[in-house]
Amino acid sequence: LLRRGLRGNFVPPIRSNGGSTGNVANSRNSGRGDDLLEDSTRRCMEMLCGSDGELPEKLRNLEPRLIEHISNEIMDKDPNVRWDDIAGLEHAKKCVTEMVVWPLLRPDLFRGCRSPGRGLLLFGPPGTGKTMVGKAIAGESKATFFYISASSLTSKWIGEGEKLVRALFGVASCRQPAVIFVDEIDSLLSQRKSDGEHESSRRLKTQFLIEMEGFDSENEQILLIDARAWIIQSLLDKDGLFKLGKEDIASICKLTDGYSGSDMKNLVKDASMGPLREAMRKGCEITKLRKEDMRVVNVQDFEDALQEVRPSVSPNELDTYEDWNKRFGSLS
Ligand code: ADP
Repeated sequence: LLRRGLRGNFVPPIRSNGGSTGNVANSRNSGRGDDLLEDSTRRCMEMLCGSDGELPEKLRNLEPRLIEHISNEIMDKDPNVRWDDIAGLEHAKKCVTEMVVWPLLRPDLFRGCRSPGRGLLLFGPPGTGKTMVGKAIAGESKATFFYISASSLTSKWIGEGEKLVRALFGVASCRQPAVIFVDEIDSLLSQRKSDGEHESSRRLKTQFLIEMEGFDSENEQILLIDARAWIIQSLLDKDGLFKLGKEDIASICKLTDGYSGSDMKNLVKDASMGPLREAMRKGCEITKLRKEDMRVVNVQDFEDALQEVRPSVSPNELDTYEDWNKRFGSLS
């Protein structure tokens, strides 16, 4: 029997002696005239039921709509990222493999002295591959990936952040092994308690810390990557649009000092438009343009793109990350 309880909470399936789970259509029986669950919500809940058909204890007091949101928007069952998709960050990959991936794959070997920390802090400027590392951890260790942005908990889920966090950790515990990626956690945990701080935001923070109990302040180094050649090469190889020699790539690398992974992606994207723009300038019509007639992307296209796509992280900001890394990070 799937239905809402008095406060809109999910009431787990109740087995009759005969083992039947009852009929959803008969479930309107609470004092408040609770609604039937939507089909989609019910499907989510059913997927989380154990082999005995019962909803795990941890999920019983959670609101079905939050569980559904976690299952549909925050959970990624098969994050399709592997180490090989990430350029550079060799030190980070090595540390993360030992600290997280191996323990997830072989928990029996990681007990006692070797027991892994439960948390890992990836830090660095935006667009340098932190989210990719999170996904790759899940991908490499066949874990379920959960992504949540801490700032959305205070902006989008005003007053409900705490409940959502509880639902998140609840669903994750039913989907083990699991990797929970909290983006912009600094926005949440660094807020000082002030008079103006909302009670709900304080509760949210507390809830987070409770859920992360045992959090072993492990620091990880993620620095601005210097694997630009790899990114250019790998993005270009995919569609065969480019025929750049080693020297061309080296000169593009020189010109892109300080560009992050996502800056590089944008740069390649813009450069790849070069041949198309040129053909249009020469009076071609987009509908008549033949692929075979288009030239490949060249270094000039990159130089043009460099005027449009600027690095998103300033050298000053970068220094801040490097200083922080020297004090607290894992040194390569
Ligand atoms: P962050 O989480 O550090 O802000 P992301 O992992 O979301 O950055 O990176 C954004 C995008 O930039 C990625 O989807 C990827 O396309 C590209 N990118 C960033 N860093 C790398 C990298 N090290 N290797 C390959 N691609 C990268």
